Amino acid sequence: MAEKWLVGVDLGGTTVKMAFLTTDGDIVHKWEIDTDLSNKGENIVKHIAQSLEDTLRRLGESKDRLLAIGIGAPGPVHKETGMLYETVNLGWKNYPLKERLEQETALPVAVDNDANIAALGEMWKGAGNGARDLICVTLGTGVGGGVIANGQIVHGVNGAGGEIGHMTMIPKGGAPCNCGKTGCLETIASATGIVRIAKEKLSRWNKPTLLRSETVTAKAVFDAAKANDELALEVVDEATFYLGLALANAANVSNPEKIVIGGGVSKAGDILVERVNAYFRRFAFPRVAEGATMVLATLGNDAGVIGGAWLAKTSFCV
Ligand SMILES: [Zn+2]
Repeated sequence: MAEKWLVGVDLGGTTVKMAFLTTDGDIVHKWEIDTDLSNKGENIVKHIAQSLEDTLRRLGESKDRLLAIGIGAPGPVHKETGMLYETVNLGWKNYPLKERLEQETALPVAVDNDANIAALGEMWKGAGNGARDLICVTLGTGVGGGVIANGQIVHGVNGAGGEIGHMTMIPKGGAPCNCGKTGCLETIASATGIVRIAKEKLSRWNKPTLLRSETVTAKAVFDAAKANDELALEVVDEATFYLGLALANAANVSNPEKIVIGGGVSKAGDILVERVNAYFRRFAFPRVAEGATMVLATLGNDAGVIGGAWLAKTSFCV
């Protein structure tokens, strides 16, 4: 009999990443479709189910090859019912994602938050390298957080556990955040936050800087910092200071073995990790700092689908 596959799905605001994986977490086939945001996202689940069928047909496989689906969605999730409380990106509110996707696919479905499944992916096949206590931050347009304690995601009572991106770093006069607060880590250490800080500093800057001659992006800031641009170094210092501080405070709660930094901004590489790590070590409780290793995520865009497969496997197959 042919080996069975797990389905990992990473549902985002612009694309849905999908993959078939072996029960050992190796990707057999991966693809993506656009997220259909029309009519408050009512077609999203149908499209995912349809795309699964189409892809199976293209591969010449039948549906009984599939064991279960694990899906990550951008918002807090009720763990038992697989209901999504709210996703601003997709237009859903109290949306029964597990139930709907099970109806459309006739497969068992497990649901979690997108940052959480990325953390599970890194734990299983990536930078976590088997560690069972880890903290994962994803630095993209926003700042996602996933905290794993003893191999389990910390969900909390409302599904909002591990939201490191919304730790308040600037208690007074901080920039507004998408969550409704001000001064969140996300307003500083996300790609958007880094650009905002750079533009603010640039408007008051009288000295030469590489950043004046090009469109300011997070990548441009890090590239300029690598070339020793004074303004860019200030921006990087501010972002990494607050990220190191937030991670130190988060780590003091769960005493992780690994702290994994992923997302588009993490492509900056060593310059980012070295600086965040230095601040982390300054602010963490010494024994917490001693126990933790800070590393870059290794799975890139595959973290979500791999974590989804882990979720499906541990929910239905073990
Ligand atoms: Zn926030």
